[in-house]
Amino acid sequence: CLSSVLLPVLSRKNTPSILDVDFFHLLVGLVLSMPSLYQEEGIDLQPSAVSSAFNNMYIFHLVTMAHILQVLLTSSGNFPAAGDGEESEEARSAADLYTAVSQHTGRLVPDLSGGSVAQRIKAGIEPFLRCAALFFNCLTGVHPPEELLNVEALCGYLALPLNIFQLFQDYRDVVSPLLQRYPRIRNRLIELPEDYSSLLNKASHFQCPKSTIDERKHPTLCLVCGAMLCSQSSCCLSQLDGEDVGACTAHAAVCGAGVGMFLRIRECEIVLMASRTRGSTYPAPYLDDYGETDPHLGRGNPLHLCSERYRKLNQLWQQHCILEEIARSLEVVNVMFAFEWQLV
Ligand SMILES: [Zn+2]
Ligand SMILES: [Zn+2]
Repeated sequence: CLSSVLLPVLSRKNTPSILDVDFFHLLVGLVLSMPSLYQEEGIDLQPSAVSSAFNNMYIFHLVTMAHILQVLLTSSGNFPAAGDGEESEEARSAADLYTAVSQHTGRLVPDLSGGSVAQRIKAGIEPFLRCAALFFNCLTGVHPPEELLNVEALCGYLALPLNIFQLFQDYRDVVSPLLQRYPRIRNRLIELPEDYSSLLNKASHFQCPKSTIDERKHPTLCLVCGAMLCSQSSCCLSQLDGEDVGACTAHAAVCGAGVGMFLRIRECEIVLMASRTRGSTYPAPYLDDYGETDPHLGRGNPLHLCSERYRKLNQLWQQHCILEEIARSLEVVNVMFAFEWQLV
């Protein structure tokens, strides 16, 4: 059951990625909340000191392995190739781990130097081990026998194997089935129809969820999740941190942590949003037969999806460049007055 804390639940949306987790924070949380599992309707079933210690060790080992993976996944490539010299046991097991993980992330570099992988990972996890040592020192009152000058001393104090990659062999049965689930499918913007008229058709059937007054609405499509929103309309204003915001701003806060990409269907334009005060518009990725965009559908020619333009928008979003793009567009368009983006 602990592994479910460490790993994204694929059936549930918005679970954090392994790269987003602060593992020391998680370690403290898990260790301190463990006793509550033994509490049942007011009856105290606390485990013996020995089993508590084993529980803590098990948690610590799992969290440490997750953190090692985190370090490995973020030290992107460029490890030197294997030299000719004899490699140590530790270097070999580090290389094994690297190979196993690479098979699931598609970054397999053959014959790399296990020694350099081991070194980089040990340097990467040292701050975490130091925090953990302090934490367990406070928790158990057991003082380290020697000054914890290096990773080896820390491992000794924390009851980790001296060859830290040994953990993945010790827990092979637990860890290997989990590794199979990676990589997760890369996030993409939603699919858009080839023919713009089908979007216009969808917009004409759009009903505001909050008001039945038949005024002209601004149906706006979230390109991240496909939700249709009622934008720039007083009926769908909501409160965000005590401020009135429009449907898109409110939606972006939950759908993309404030960052959003929307298609205003009747205006045929993309709205990029990076925060409540920053946004910009962009032509929709649809072109007429002359290869022109049609902002605000002024010309009214049939429009077809331009996959190249949509691919670029996808890239902008995947590479977290929306804020940059907005900043750039603000330099081009000399803005005379601040547009109230939060009301979109
Ligand atoms: Zn959305
Ligand atoms: Zn509305």
